[in-house]
Amino acid sequence: MFQSSQWEGALPDVPRSFTRRETLLSIRDLSVTYKTRSGELSAVDTLSLDLYKGEILGLVGESGCGKSTLGKAIMRMIDLPGEITKGQLLFKGTDLMTLSEKEMRELRGQSISMIFQDPMTSLNPVQSIEDHIIEAIRVHQPDVEPADASLRAAELIERLGIGRKRLEDYPHQLSGGMRQRVMIALALALKADIIIADEATTSLDVIVEAQFLDLLRELKDEFGLTILLITHNIGVVAQLADRVAVMYGGRLAEVTDVESLFYNPKHPYTQGLLASVPNIDLQSTHLHRMDGLPPNLISPPAGCRFHPRCPEAMEICTQQQPWLVRVDDIGEGDERVGGYDKHLAACWLHQEYEGTKVRRY
Ligand code: SF4
Repeated sequence: MFQSSQWEGALPDVPRSFTRRETLLSIRDLSVTYKTRSGELSAVDTLSLDLYKGEILGLVGESGCGKSTLGKAIMRMIDLPGEITKGQLLFKGTDLMTLSEKEMRELRGQSISMIFQDPMTSLNPVQSIEDHIIEAIRVHQPDVEPADASLRAAELIERLGIGRKRLEDYPHQLSGGMRQRVMIALALALKADIIIADEATTSLDVIVEAQFLDLLRELKDEFGLTILLITHNIGVVAQLADRVAVMYGGRLAEVTDVESLFYNPKHPYTQGLLASVPNIDLQSTHLHRMDGLPPNLISPPAGCRFHPRCPEAMEICTQQQPWLVRVDDIGEGDERVGGYDKHLAACWLHQEYEGTKVRRY
C-alpha cells in the first residue's frame, strides 16, 4: 500500500478558492481517438469534468495519459489523424462542438487562451511584442483604436514585470520566462475567460518557474482568472491549484480539492504518484517507485486501466471499468453538485458492484 499521508504539512499555506462555484466549462462524456496504422488510439475516453469560474484546476498525470489532448480538445484543436468522437464541451451554456470553425476561431484567444510549453511556437518571430499584443486586441476588438491598444499593451507588459522598452523586442530577444509572460499578456489583453496552460513551466529553470507561478496566482486573484493548469509536475499543482484532476490512461482517476488530494488520496494511482515525488518536507527517506508502464492506449487493459500496476487490484478490476463516483463522507441525498467539497474517484475499492446501484458522475 502506498504511504502518501506523509504529505501532511507539505502544502504551501496559500488561500484557495473554495467559495466560488459558478461552472464556466462542463466537459461531458468526451472521447478523442487517433487513427494510427496499428489501430485506434483512445487518448481520452468518456471523460466528464467541470471547470469553475475563478479557480485554478490542476490536470496531472504521466506523459501520454491524455491531459494535453484534453486541453487541445477544449480548444477544438485536435489535428488529424485525431478526432473528437463524442461528447459535449459546454462553455457558458454553449456546446463548442456545435460551433463552426469560423466561430471557434473567434472564440480561441478571446474567450479561451492556451499557453504552451514553448511559446515560440505561438509567437511570430518577425513581429515585435507590441505588434503581437496590438494585433491580438484589434483582431478580436476592431473598434479599439491602435493608440489605445498600444497603451494597453504597455500597461499589461509592465504589470507582468517586463519593462515597456521590451515592447519593441522580438520573441527571440526575450528569455523563456519573459515569453511565457507575453503569452499571459495576450490572454489578459483579450480578457480571456479561461487560460489553458499546457506544461507552461516545464522549460523554465526553478527560480523563473517559482516567479512565474507566483505571478499566475497574483493575476488569478487580481483579474479573476480561471486556469486549467496541465502539468506532470505534482509540486506545481501543490503550489498553485485549488482543485486537481488526476488522469490515467485517458480517463479520470480522481478529482478533488488540493488538500484532499494530498492529505487523503483515494485512488491507488494518485497515492503512487504522490509517494513517487521527492520532497524535502517528507519525514520518510524512502522514495516509492511505481512499477510498470502507462497502458498502451491502442489496446488498453480491460476493466480498470491501472490494474496491471495496482497493488490493490481485485478480480473485478480486470473485468469492469470503475466509474467516477463520489467518495467523500457527505451523506446520501446531499448532492452539492458543483461544490468543491465533492471528492470523486474511479476505483472499485470505493464502490460496490453487485446488487448495489453505483451513482455515476
Ligand atoms: Fe486498483 Fe482496482 Fe482501484 Fe483500479 S479499480 S485502482 S485496479 S483497486
